[in-house]
Amino acid sequence: MKVSEETNLWVEQDGQLMLRGVRCGACASVQFPPQPYGCEACGAAPQYLSEALIPARGTLHTLTTVHVDQKLTTPFRVAEIKTEADQFVRGRLDDSDAVVGGLVQGVVRQVEGTERVVFVPADA
Ligand SMILES: [Zn+2]
Repeated sequence: MKVSEETNLWVEQDGQLMLRGVRCGACASVQFPPQPYGCEACGAAPQYLSEALIPARGTLHTLTTVHVDQKLTTPFRVAEIKTEADQFVRGRLDDSDAVVGGLVQGVVRQVEGTERVVFVPADA
């Protein structure tokens, strides 16, 4: 699967925001965001990856603050989220009230002029 920066990394399905991740045909791992160099688990080439829709909702597993980025204004926070489908995804965390172990959900927001999925504390 070719990863393009012009392609939205999400889709709405039955009213739920889904992340457009990838599933590796070699090792079966599911990943988000997709990386252009291939599978980040086993190193398989990009042609082994196919699209996998992942629910944009889960438990905040860990987070960190980014202080240096080539494109985006820093600092901002990035989180690893364990989704309801038991997959780990990474995304921007856009709310200071989010805590490790808490429920978070993806929402689409403008970030520096571009629509992106960001994670915020989930509504109950
Ligand atoms: Zn793999």
